This record gives sequence, C-alpha cells and structure tokens, in this order.
Amino acid sequence: MQQALAQLAGQLEGELHYDSLLRALYATDGSIYKAYPLAVALPCSVADLKKLITFARQNHTSLIPRTAGTSLAGQCVGEGIVVDVSKHFTKILEVNVEEQTVRLQPGVIRDELNRHLQPYGLYFGPNTSTANRCMLGGMVGNNSCGTTSIVYGSTRDHVIELHTVLSDGSEAVFGPLSATELEGKLQLDTLEGQLYRHMLAELSPAEVREEIRSQYPKPSIHRRNTGYAIDLLLRQQPFDPAGKPFNFATMICGSEGTLSLLHPGRSRGSIDDRISR
Ligand SMILES: Cc1cc2nc3c(=O)[nH]c(=O)nc-3n(C[C@H](O)[C@H](O)[C@H](O)COP(=O)(O)OP(=O)(O)OC[C@H]3O[C@@H](n4cnc5c(N)ncnc54)[C@H](O)[C@@H]3O)c2cc1C
Repeated sequence: MQQALAQLAGQLEGELHYDSLLRALYATDGSIYKAYPLAVALPCSVADLKKLITFARQNHTSLIPRTAGTSLAGQCVGEGIVVDVSKHFTKILEVNVEEQTVRLQPGVIRDELNRHLQPYGLYFGPNTSTANRCMLGGMVGNNSCGTTSIVYGSTRDHVIELHTVLSDGSEAVFGPLSATELEGKLQLDTLEGQLYRHMLAELSPAEVREEIRSQYPKPSIHRRNTGYAIDLLLRQQPFDPAGKPFNFATMICGSEGTLSLLHPGRSRGSIDDRISR
C-alpha cells in the first residue's frame, strides 16, 4: 500500500500525506471519535478528485470528504483517505445581487462569505455556532443550521445547484429540473442517468410513498440527518405536481459526504436580504 500511495502522490497536482504526523492530525474531528486515516489528500483540481476516486475503487478503500472538520458525530473520521478541500477550493466565484445567488467552492468559510456579501446588504442566513470556521461544503454535508434558521431555514433551503464527482469519477451537476430536463436525464447512459432512473423507480409505488410519508420525522423538524431526505423529494415534481421542480441536490444536502464529492465548480445557492427581514 505504501508503494501505491507513493505512486498516487506523484500523480496528484495537490498533496498526499501518509506520514504518521498528518494521519494523527486528521484522526479526529469535532466529535469524540478517533481513527487513523490511511492518508490525507489536499486536492487542487477536479482531476485530482477523479484520481483519488479511481485509487479508492482500485484499492478497496474509502474517501472521507472534509472541510473544517467541526462535525460532531464523526462524519470526518475514518480509515480511508481524508480528502480535505479547505486549502485549495476556497473561492467565491460569483455574486448575483439581482437574483440573490452566489456561486462558490466548498472550502469557503461561512463568515468570510458574509463579510464578502456585506457591501451588497446580503447575507447567507444559516448561522451555525462554528460559523467562523465551518465551510459551505461541510454545511451542505450536514445540512447545517443555527440560531437564525427559524427565519432563514437550513443550508438545504439555500442550495440551488451542486457540482459533484460521482463514485465512478464522472461529473454531475444536480439542480432543479423541468419535466423535459428530467426526461433527458432519465435517458442518460451514465451513472447520473442511472441515479435518476433508480430513484424515480424506487419512489414510484404508492405504498412506498405512503410508508415514507408516515414513517419519516415530521416535516416541521428542519434539521435532521437521520438518513437521506427522500421524503423531501416526494414533495417535488413529478410526485407532487404543485411542488418545486425535482432537484437531487435537496437530498445531497445532509448526506454527510456519502453520495458524491462536491468539486471546485460553480455550485450555486441563494442568499438572504438581511435588511428587509
Ligand atoms: C461547538 C460546536 C457547535 C456546533 N454548532 C452547530 C450548530 O449550531 N448548527 C449546526 O448545524 N451544526 C453545528 N455544529 C456542527 C458543525 O460545526 C457544522 O455542521 C458545520 O457546518 C460543519 O462544517 P465543516 O466545514 O466543519 O464540515 P466538516 O465537518 O468538515 O464536514 C461535514 C460533512 O460534510 C461532508 N463534506 C465536506 N466537504 C465535502 C465535499 N467537498 N464534498 C462532499 N461532502 C463534503 C463531510 O464528509 C462531512 O460528512 C457544531 C459543532 C461544534 C464543534
């Protein structure tokens, strides 16, 4: 394995560490848990993420995405390769004042985003206690919220579009889809297409939908990461014709890094008008 890691290190634009010091530093997060990772990667590019995915598949190990590592339930602790995107994926790419949206990379710190937005009178509402450290990638992973969430909602309520790399190394952008766009996705001969086909087929039987609606926690409980939020997909089209357009990003929020890697592309979210609230 050491040889394979050395080879991988030589292929990455970013860094790969597998010495005992770095492994020890990344053996914990904000939780009580501890496990020594196989290695710690600090990727620089989408190409690096793809190489890490290929390596993990070939060597039967896992990837543990990480931003600030303030998670409380061991989300960033594991024996695979920790993929820390907090060093290189830190750009705010675009603020659209008119639409009140922002495009950014997953390693942007929540309070730094708000300092950037201050001159526009705008604000990213979810106010996690760790806001001066935690990053948007981790907030998406944990569907983070905080003291202002009764007014502004949780992170999930703000996510519009996520740019991701899937487990086969393919890229997929998950965002709101019209009926025609959804039909187009269902035809794709890729893992992305397979995900749409699988999810729609699983959620189609009326008895499955009824079971989910009756057994999931009350929709009024905003912050809950006890499983994937498939109940929220049922409140979207085509399951609820009066609902919002189908958007897989709704479910990726709160999936704790288990479904895809958020990459340094142009993931988009909404921001709030702090003054008028
Ligand atoms: C003292 C304290 C107070 C806290 N208070 C709150 C609170 O008020 N509200 C709240 O919601 N939480 C709270 N938390 C939990 C935690 O701080 C938040 O959930 C925070 O938003 C996590 O952000 P992070 O950058 O540290 O994410 P991390 O801990 O690094 O990651 C969180 C999850 O996101 C995944 N992830 C990270 N980057 C990516 C990526 N690029 N691609 C895919 N998945 C990714 C990780 O794998 C992980 O599952 C608190 C924690 C502490 C220690």
